[in-house]
Amino acid sequence: MSGVTETVTVSEEKGHKITILEEWCKGCDICVEVCPTDVLAMKAVGTRWQGTIAVVVEADACIACMLCEQQCPDFAILIEKGEKKKKGKKAEAA
Ligand code: SF4
Ligand code: SF4
Repeated sequence: MSGVTETVTVSEEKGHKITILEEWCKGCDICVEVCPTDVLAMKAVGTRWQGTIAVVVEADACIACMLCEQQCPDFAILIEKGEKKKKGKKAEAA
């Protein structure tokens, strides 16, 4: 198997990985509609038959709720939960 173009975005804050399988995305907008934190948007791509594709615009806002993955009718978006790193501020000098 080969040939599926993936766009992978990892949120810096939480490490959640969002993968969009470009060829499988039909630009239906469902993932954008269901995402509660506006992580996703539709981008115009002239070469696509439907003219748009889903893209990640705010990775750090992802809460790994999985709604986009569950609702995508074409299995074109995948979420892998990252490990939440606690960024405790170290008091370096007192
Ligand atoms: S729900 Fe799936 S097919 Fe529809 S725009 Fe989002 S990623 Fe593409
Ligand atoms: S997992 Fe949830 S928060 Fe993250 S992009 Fe998908 S719908 Fe949005």
